[in-house]
Amino acid sequence: MATGQINVQTENIFPIIKKFLYSDTEIFLRELVSNAVDASQKLKTLSSLGEYKGELGNLKVEVILDKDAKTITIRDNGIGMTGEEVDKYINQIAFSGAEEFVQKYKDSGDSNAIIGHFGLGFYSSFMVSDKVEILTKSHREGAQAVKWSSNGTPEYTLEDIDKETRGTDIVLHIAEDSTEFLEDARLSAILNKYCKFLPIDVQFGMKDEWVDSPTGEKDENGNIKKDKIEIENIINSKDPLWTKQPTDLKDEDYKAFYQELYPFSEEPLFNIHLNVDYPFNLTGILYFPRLKNDVQVQKNKIQLYSNQVFITDSVENIVPDFMQLLHGVIDSPDIPLNVSRSYLQADSNVKKISSYITKKVADKLNQMFKDNREDFEAKWNDIKVFIEYGMLSDEKFYDRAKKSFLFQNTDGKSFTIDEYAEKIKATQTDKNDRVVYLYTNNQEEHHALIQNANERGYDVLLLDSPLTPHFIQHLEMKLEKASFARIDSDTIDQLIKKDEEQPSKLSDEEKEALKPIFEEVVTKDKFMVDVQSLSEKDQPVLVTQSEYMRRMTEQQKLGGGGMGFMGSMPEMYNLVVNANHPLITTIMETKTDKKKQKLAEQAVDLALLAKGLLKGEKLTQFLNRSIDLIK
Ligand code: ADP
Repeated sequence: MATGQINVQTENIFPIIKKFLYSDTEIFLRELVSNAVDASQKLKTLSSLGEYKGELGNLKVEVILDKDAKTITIRDNGIGMTGEEVDKYINQIAFSGAEEFVQKYKDSGDSNAIIGHFGLGFYSSFMVSDKVEILTKSHREGAQAVKWSSNGTPEYTLEDIDKETRGTDIVLHIAEDSTEFLEDARLSAILNKYCKFLPIDVQFGMKDEWVDSPTGEKDENGNIKKDKIEIENIINSKDPLWTKQPTDLKDEDYKAFYQELYPFSEEPLFNIHLNVDYPFNLTGILYFPRLKNDVQVQKNKIQLYSNQVFITDSVENIVPDFMQLLHGVIDSPDIPLNVSRSYLQADSNVKKISSYITKKVADKLNQMFKDNREDFEAKWNDIKVFIEYGMLSDEKFYDRAKKSFLFQNTDGKSFTIDEYAEKIKATQTDKNDRVVYLYTNNQEEHHALIQNANERGYDVLLLDSPLTPHFIQHLEMKLEKASFARIDSDTIDQLIKKDEEQPSKLSDEEKEALKPIFEEVVTKDKFMVDVQSLSEKDQPVLVTQSEYMRRMTEQQKLGGGGMGFMGSMPEMYNLVVNANHPLITTIMETKTDKKKQKLAEQAVDLALLAKGLLKGEKLTQFLNRSIDLIK
């Protein structure tokens, strides 16, 4: 037996490993199992190159829990190591790797700063063990098996042992403060989280399975009797869908895999299979969930893997924010994993990956639109918030996705941005050459207003997404001479001003005289009275709210983009009195002041009612007055 001292550069790293990585100790299992998988795959490669001539056998990694001995063993039948290799890989290379990792980790000081804690490798075993043994036999012919042992100090022993089988056992003697890892359920959960898609079978104990009895004996119902047998509990599926060729897969396969990733979830809308090997390596499948009109969906759904090893499900800094509305898997060995998150964003590979994904998603949307517009339109409501979010936050995505962005009007028809501009150009261009896009966020509430606009030959869009206030602002910047106006933000003729003005039945003096009558009956600090000459067909009194003011308030509510300093902006409305309406003439000509006021009140209340603003005492008064008037 030989004893030795690991060459410690700075200080003893083991207490640091223990202390600093305390929050995420469970990753020791991922590190050791993926080492075992690597060792198995290396042997496979050597064999296929003809450099290893022995039997491969059934390559498998076993995780063995021995509660009595308080050990966890990770066993593989991969390449194994000779004594010299242990000295080189474990005492020198692995150790300096661990030391470097700890150094970075100490500097960042934040337990989540190093993405997924990947890179600590073999020495992560000391997070949970007070002694670790390696029993290993190399695949080389006539190799002498060895045992390495260390109790968490830089001292180690290395000795020759008898070991029949090829490969490596890592035996962890679990420390007193880590006995939680001696529970089956805990180990199962960790394996399921990190190792579910590893490319070599990973076995954790045995499990029961019911199979047809070999005797063929039948029960009273005539079914073949079942026998309970024990089979190996393999916890992973070796060929997850993203590693396969898209051409070999059907829609059902993608849907089934989605359920595997997110059990009991609503079926996704569609998916994108990512597959590149130059200039970086990336595979994966992204799913579009049914977003409906919601941006508040859970964001940590995309799972990041590196060569089928689960790393993390928080992929911020790797994919753009809006992409996090999607679900699925990204697997790339080219994402640097042992760096801090802030460093990630600046990494050129990560930038390339991020823009590759963005491009792929936009291309997919355009392709779907081109291939089957009807189907695309049917899905639109579930994807529009995603697209709006993307177009708002990513210039490149805007440029790509705008081709298949859809406007829907109140007749339920869909148009691309270009088609719609063409449609309304002739009718909805105002005298200042602005093209006015009329919209509603609620067809029911704005029924009368929409009808009114339609009667003038105008079209009204339905824009009811939570991002609408921001999105239309963005479009106004992007589209030439376009302005968006909600149908209730002014009278229709003010919204689209034309050259010809409505002749007024009332003189300017008469209009001035009208104002105080109405100012009398509304709350002054909430309503601005404005007398206009509208069409006789328009309502006598109309409550509007300026597009600008409303949009600001809405943006503020949504957070971001609005004007923060506006604090609690009071709700302000305009009360537009239609000087050309017969009812207004009647009010003007009414003799007694009391009667005049009553009629004005009635007209105002009707307008408030139409706007859903008549409530409480005012509503009661209105009801009583109405009864008075008709009895
Ligand atoms: P990394 O896996 O990042 O190289 P590790 O500290 O996890 O770093 O391991 C160091 C080295 O030890 C590996 O590169 C490998 O050569 C060797 N090694 C670790 N585990 C095994 C194993 N189960 N079988 C064979 N070699 C192993």
